Amino acid sequence: MGKITDLLGRPLAISIELWPPRSPKAEEHLEAALVELLELRPAFTSITYGAGGSTRDRTHELVVQLQAEGRTVPMAHLVCAAHTRAELHDILVRYRDAGIENVLALRGDVPLGSEEELTPGELTYAIELARLAKEVGDFCVAVAAHPGGHPDSASLEEDLDHLARKLGSADFAITQFLFRSDDYRRLRDGLASRGVTKPLVPGIQPITNPRSVARMSEMSGHPVPPEVADRVAAAGDDPAEVRKIGVEMATSLCEELVADGVPGLHFYTMNQSAATIEICANLGIRPGAPR
Ligand code: FAD
Repeated sequence: MGKITDLLGRPLAISIELWPPRSPKAEEHLEAALVELLELRPAFTSITYGAGGSTRDRTHELVVQLQAEGRTVPMAHLVCAAHTRAELHDILVRYRDAGIENVLALRGDVPLGSEEELTPGELTYAIELARLAKEVGDFCVAVAAHPGGHPDSASLEEDLDHLARKLGSADFAITQFLFRSDDYRRLRDGLASRGVTKPLVPGIQPITNPRSVARMSEMSGHPVPPEVADRVAAAGDDPAEVRKIGVEMATSLCEELVADGVPGLHFYTMNQSAATIEICANLGIRPGAPR
């Protein structure tokens, strides 16, 4: 169905991220959201993978199902954590044999709120998984980028060095969600100064409820910028007002990023369609319209 690097930037690619459903009810909900999201004609749809390996089969099933149905170009997330090299090799062979062409190679993180520690895998860093994927098949390999620097890194500069090296073994990167276009530019320019100009797709996750700010800080390992947190705080506990402000801020951010010539916008949808559809409508991307 196509390699993502051939689909980026033409004209503006949007992409959506979903997680595999854990129950028949969640499956129904996801299908309803997916029908609406696919009306936006995303360039690709990426499916998350639990670092404990718990969603191994569900991720695989959903990715292969989307591929077989031909509804969207799927990208399978895969993590180093809690896996042997041989297990990862087998998973990649199964994807290759099912015709999957796109893989996001990650280290993995325990889910938010989990008390568990990350179980290390035989491969330590995502770069090793990116290399393994390239050995196994003719995959288009994506990797993660961290706009404020990954929390385990001593500095943004050190993280950028690792990211630049990682991109040497991959085809493009998707960022952790960000709130300021400056953060995107800093990352892109930092890579360019290291001689890396592969596509860097910004990740967008609108704040949709009053609890999102704390949750997103924890996920990224960085505080939400004060100007963003203050606007959300001003809305108090009114969920509708917080959501409205969240969509407005995400729309402005996307407009700035588009003006900056980004190759795409990657929406962390949390398996919900409404906010992504609203932001896209604000950007002039309407459901059902040819793209
Ligand atoms: P790595 O690239 O391995 O980097 C991890 C840390 O090690 C960084 O601090 C890096 O600077 C450092 N490092 C890298 N190489 C070296 C080296 N050679 N020596 C020393 N230090 C080094 N998690 C999941 O569990 N499942 C998912 O489906 C998932 N999807 C994601 C999708 C996107 C778009 C993003 C941005 C993240 C996603 N994550 C997911 C989260 C991700 O697993 C975490 O952010 C994780 O903490 C880091 O992953 P990474 O692939 O960037 O790690």
